[in-house]
Amino acid sequence: MTFLNHFCSEMHKVVFKDKATAPLMKLVALLIAVGNRLKICDIRNFITDYVTTIGNRIYAHPRWNYATEPSPLVLHELTHVVFWSTTYALRYLLSKKWRLYYESVCIQTEMMCFTRCRSNAYIKIKARMLEGYGIRYSDAVNELAKRLHEVETNRHHPEAAKVYYLYADWQRLMEHVRLAGSAHHEDH
Ligand SMILES: [Zn+2]
Repeated sequence: MTFLNHFCSEMHKVVFKDKATAPLMKLVALLIAVGNRLKICDIRNFITDYVTTIGNRIYAHPRWNYATEPSPLVLHELTHVVFWSTTYALRYLLSKKWRLYYESVCIQTEMMCFTRCRSNAYIKIKARMLEGYGIRYSDAVNELAKRLHEVETNRHHPEAAKVYYLYADWQRLMEHVRLAGSAHHEDH
C-alpha cells in the first residue's frame, strides 16, 4: 500500500490530475506568464516543475512520484490538501504574508518527516523557491527558521502534525507487513 492510498482512506480522498492536459492549469499557466511579465511572480516551467494543489485535486506532471515511499514534495502537497478551505484559498492568493505562512507550514511537514530537511541549507533552497511566489528571500528564511525551531522544540503546527502522524502510522503499518512477510517466509 502506498502512502497516498493510506492518506486517501484515512484523511481525504485525493484526486490526481495530469497537469499537462488540464484546461484549468493551461489558464493558470497563462495568468502566471502575465504575472511574470508584470514581475508579480517569477515562476518558470510551471507545468513541468511545479505541483499545484486545489482542494483535493493535485495537479502534477505525469512524472509525479506515485511510489510507495512518499517524497518530501508529496507530504508537502498533502499538507495543502489538509489546509484547504475557501478562506485559505483567498488568503493564499491575495496575501503574500499568508502565502508564506501556509507554504512554511507545508515545509514544516517535510522537516518533521525527514531529518534531511532540517537544515539551514534546506531552508535556503526553499526560500529561493518561494521567491518565485513573490515572497522576499529574507522573509522566507526567517519564517522557515521559525518553523524549524518549532519542530526542534515540539511546537509544530496542527496541519503539519496531521500529515506527519499519518506518515508515522503508515510507516508502522508497513513495518508490520514487512515483518509478517519475513515471518511467513521463514515458515516455508
Ligand atoms: Zn506549497
